[in-house]
Amino acid sequence: MRIGGGIDVHRLVRGRRLVLGGVEIPFELGLEGHSDADVLTHALMDALLSAARLPDIGELFPDTDPAFEGADSLALLAEVARRVAEAGLSIVDCDLTLCADRPKIAPHKLAMRENLARALSVPVEAIGLKATTTEGLGFTGEGSGMAAFALCLLEER
Ligand code: MG
Repeated sequence: MRIGGGIDVHRLVRGRRLVLGGVEIPFELGLEGHSDADVLTHALMDALLSAARLPDIGELFPDTDPAFEGADSLALLAEVARRVAEAGLSIVDCDLTLCADRPKIAPHKLAMRENLARALSVPVEAIGLKATTTEGLGFTGEGSGMAAFALCLLEER
């Protein structure tokens, strides 16, 4: 077994889409970044790459490369899954936490889990997801950004 952890943070700004787990959520702010800035998917990619002892997403998909401008993070996640499989590893389980006081995530959780599971070719039961507020504290509480944490378990084939 291999364990991996990943963390990501993106700033919330006006004039950007809010994409989380591949789901576009109606909100007055969106996440800033070179790609679609899907903070949840980015944390998961880094957890998987770390568990597989592969280079992290900053190295694989550099934000200085025009090829990744506006990139669909689910497509990048599918590429990560391909590399994990190529390294002789199977994805057993993943668990994600999103820190954001607003907007409400609960109505979108199942759709996010389904998107992530599809990109990884795993059952939806293999993707855990919860959201938490930080009670108005810090950048996630004041709404200037979102943070995501991911854990995963891989198995050597
Ligand atoms: Mg990111």
